[in-house]
Amino acid sequence: MTHQPGMSALTAADPEIAGLVEREARRQHDKIRLIASENYVSEAVLEATGTVLTNKYSEGYPGRRYYEGQQVIDQVERLAVQRAKALFGAEHANVQPYSGSPANLAAYLAFAKPGDTVLGMALPDGGHLTHGWSVSATGKWFDPVRYGVRKETGRVDLDQVRDLARRHRPTLIFAGGTAIPRTIDFPAFAEIAREVGAVLVADIAHIAGLVAGGAHPSPVGYAPVITTTTHKTLRGPRGAMILADAEHGKAIDKAVFPGLQGGPHNHTTAAIAVALGEAATPEFRDYAHAVVDNARALAEALLERGFDLVSGGTDNHLLLVDLTGKGIGGKPAAQALDRAGVELNYNTVPFDPRKPFDPSGIRLGTSSITTRGLRPEHQPRLAEWIDRAVTAAASGDEQALERIAAEVHELLAAYPMPGYRA
Ligand SMILES: *Cc1c(COP(=O)(O)O)cnc(C)c1O
Repeated sequence: MTHQPGMSALTAADPEIAGLVEREARRQHDKIRLIASENYVSEAVLEATGTVLTNKYSEGYPGRRYYEGQQVIDQVERLAVQRAKALFGAEHANVQPYSGSPANLAAYLAFAKPGDTVLGMALPDGGHLTHGWSVSATGKWFDPVRYGVRKETGRVDLDQVRDLARRHRPTLIFAGGTAIPRTIDFPAFAEIAREVGAVLVADIAHIAGLVAGGAHPSPVGYAPVITTTTHKTLRGPRGAMILADAEHGKAIDKAVFPGLQGGPHNHTTAAIAVALGEAATPEFRDYAHAVVDNARALAEALLERGFDLVSGGTDNHLLLVDLTGKGIGGKPAAQALDRAGVELNYNTVPFDPRKPFDPSGIRLGTSSITTRGLRPEHQPRLAEWIDRAVTAAASGDEQALERIAAEVHELLAAYPMPGYRA
């Protein structure tokens, strides 16, 4: 098994780095990857990211560049923009943001001034750093107000969102987050934003692939500005996009360039275009629905084994497990699971009594295992491994973890991964 596309020049020039890339490919192959923000991109996407397009500067936008020689790059970016607009049904698309965090910063720069009030979901409740959390520039340079989830339901408290919006009159309202296992009610957010005159930013970084594949309602038509990464459920390269209605598009473009960034990463733009092409196929629709089917099946299997899921289950690709009842913290559990071949991250749960670097929960997502070809019938086995590993971690049974890793390895051998093969 070797990395695909091949790396003959890299191996000759820099065997040390080439060796590390091979090791990482193998690691990704051998593990059940349940990190909710990750995926396996196609070999076509990998090839696009490794092209000579990385050599080119193209500050500006197609037809309006500050450097010559854009005969080809303009076509690449236009294709990416057209595909983004068509896939999501959006009036405007900007495919240049370097990643999700800069995409969100562009929304601030476009529509808010330093010191303005912004309303976003609290980080411990599932929000993202860039929605105004205190350690982020967005929390330091703006005046953040935060909503959360209801204790009884684990779901976003829309009454609180409305109350806070009426009281604080934010310039921006963010809907979305990094650890939300339930459907986001974009129409409800839109109504609140309209009432208080705020710009609603739907951050669909996690669920963009589900939206594209029809497995989660779309914010288009409700949020005038939509930010997203391209590398999570959307299964593209590391990057981001901003979709907007016609009215807000110009301000977004100015904010991305020249407001925040210099030259776009053209090799990434090409790979985004490829991923968007893939996401427009019937196979991708099936994929998006299979991601949700897998998450539901995994949730059911974990509930049967006595795990406590925030909100009691999932509507999307993501599960948040509160391990309090299992007598182990999220961090030691995540570390033990990694040794057992099950890769995920520790995570705060809403109203977490523990510290953020040692929280009560773990977060799981099914985007990567669905790409590998695992289906609902495999989920009881995954839940069994998670259960055994958590028990083994609590009792310090390293041999049990090794046995699980061997079983994981054996199952995955039958499910090929794009980017690593004979
Ligand atoms: C992942 C994520 C981001 C940030 O993306 P980066 O590419 O890591 O900067 C922003 N918002 C949400 C909701 C995310 O999940």
